[in-house]
Amino acid sequence: MSVKPTLAEGFAASVPVVIVGAGAAGLCAALAAHEAGAAEVVVFERDPLPRGSTALSAGLIPAAGTRFQRALGISDGAERFAADIRQKAHDEGNAAITDLVARQAGATVEWLADRYGFPFSLVHDFDYPGHSVRRMHGLPSRSGAELVDLLQRAAEQAEITIVCDATVSRLFSDSENAVRGVEVTRPDGSRDHIGCEALVLACNGYGGAPDLVAKYIPEMRSAHYFGHPGNRGDAVLWGQALGAKLLNMSGYQGHGSVAHPHSILITWAVIMEGGFQVNVLGRRFSDESRGYSEQAAVVLAQPERIAFDIFDERIAAIARQFEDFRQAEAVGAVIAAASVAELAERLKLPQGTLAETFRQVESAKETGADSFGRSFARQARLSPPYKAVRVTGALFHTQGGLAVNVDARVLNERGALLPNLFAAGGAAASVSGSVASGYLSGNGLLTATVLGRISGASAAALVKSRQIKR
Ligand SMILES: Cc1cc2nc3c(=O)[nH]c(=O)nc-3n(C[C@H](O)[C@H](O)[C@H](O)COP(=O)(O)OP(=O)(O)OC[C@H]3O[C@@H](n4cnc5c(N)ncnc54)[C@H](O)[C@@H]3O)c2cc1C
Repeated sequence: MSVKPTLAEGFAASVPVVIVGAGAAGLCAALAAHEAGAAEVVVFERDPLPRGSTALSAGLIPAAGTRFQRALGISDGAERFAADIRQKAHDEGNAAITDLVARQAGATVEWLADRYGFPFSLVHDFDYPGHSVRRMHGLPSRSGAELVDLLQRAAEQAEITIVCDATVSRLFSDSENAVRGVEVTRPDGSRDHIGCEALVLACNGYGGAPDLVAKYIPEMRSAHYFGHPGNRGDAVLWGQALGAKLLNMSGYQGHGSVAHPHSILITWAVIMEGGFQVNVLGRRFSDESRGYSEQAAVVLAQPERIAFDIFDERIAAIARQFEDFRQAEAVGAVIAAASVAELAERLKLPQGTLAETFRQVESAKETGADSFGRSFARQARLSPPYKAVRVTGALFHTQGGLAVNVDARVLNERGALLPNLFAAGGAAASVSGSVASGYLSGNGLLTATVLGRISGASAAALVKSRQIKR
């Protein structure tokens, strides 16, 4: 990939709206641009199939005031949602974008459900840290692979062109920093130059670029990156070369519960429903309920960089709604034991210490006093058969990125608009602020779907308005 944008002489073809990346952001952008009347929309995707981090995710989108919530008697609204995002982000995220995504998320989930038939349902049986009500919406398998497959199908039905095996390797811009086209490189090394009138960057962040992770997020320098490896920071590098403003580059979403060595995400439901984590000494080491994102670094700071999620069969039954958890069980990552002693033996943990940790947790559930300050209010005692998974911490995706306005248009260092550049999802600065603890569950797909939809509609509108002027 070249980061120096230059103006090429002539293009093989020209398309009004070009989108880089076919994850949730790019495909939502494509659908919205098409709906808004763009004469042609082309999505370039480096992989043989649209997958991205979206396919690795649980596919859960937080949204407030939806009909799915109302059907379960849950009262929620955009202001409450925005307040939750702000509180988790220590008020560091862009206020206008926070309000925007909180306001538009409900309409976006219902757009996908009603216009494209996505069978969403609300995750109603456990709480996510930081959300004051239950507002996570997911597909039946609770997997992002299902989400990206449905988005791809919807785009194909709308006859939107998705060109796979097509890495955008260079941007061409003019002296005003308007993007005039892109260079697309095929796996055989051949290249095409395609012109465009508006460009949407939906190629996620820089988790797959070790040099950028080391530069912006040193604490995750040696952590395993669990997101899509093709997300190599192209949007940030191109944006920078065009004078774009970067925001909150040290922010990231981590996760403190990735089965090790199986590399399968273990849902945080196992913790939030009354489970806990211990280290190899059999001791708890934190208030796990603060959030899974900040827990990545906490787990990595433990001996051997690992921990154990401890829960029971009742909680496992809730976790089984997730495809990932079912897979983890299938490959033997979830250990079962009839007693604490047997659990200690199977996990090779000191029996006496683990038994004492169990006693402390169960006493905290009764008395409300936990030495780590965690509230175990209303959480049931664990009962046999007990369950456990050996886990580690990982970097899931980066949260810093290109500063955008409420139309998802990229801003330059002075806060002015770049002429025709848009960004969404992991390519744009998220609403999570500058540290891992700022990530509220679902901020990733929230900004991918909402800003994706807005960026596509805005790009189509910009192209139309310029055509009218001509
Ligand atoms: C294990 C895991 C679980 C998660 N669970 C959740 C969850 O439940 N809820 C939630 O909100 N978030 C979750 N996230 C975060 C979420 O997956 C991301 O925030 C979201 O998928 C980002 O969407 P995107 O479209 O911006 O990027 P992606 O889905 O990564 O798509 C970007 C696409 O761009 C392509 N690309 C990159 N560079 C180029 C280029 N130069 N040319 C062409 N194509 C290019 C990539 O191949 C990729 O397909 C999770 C993340 C992980 C890793």
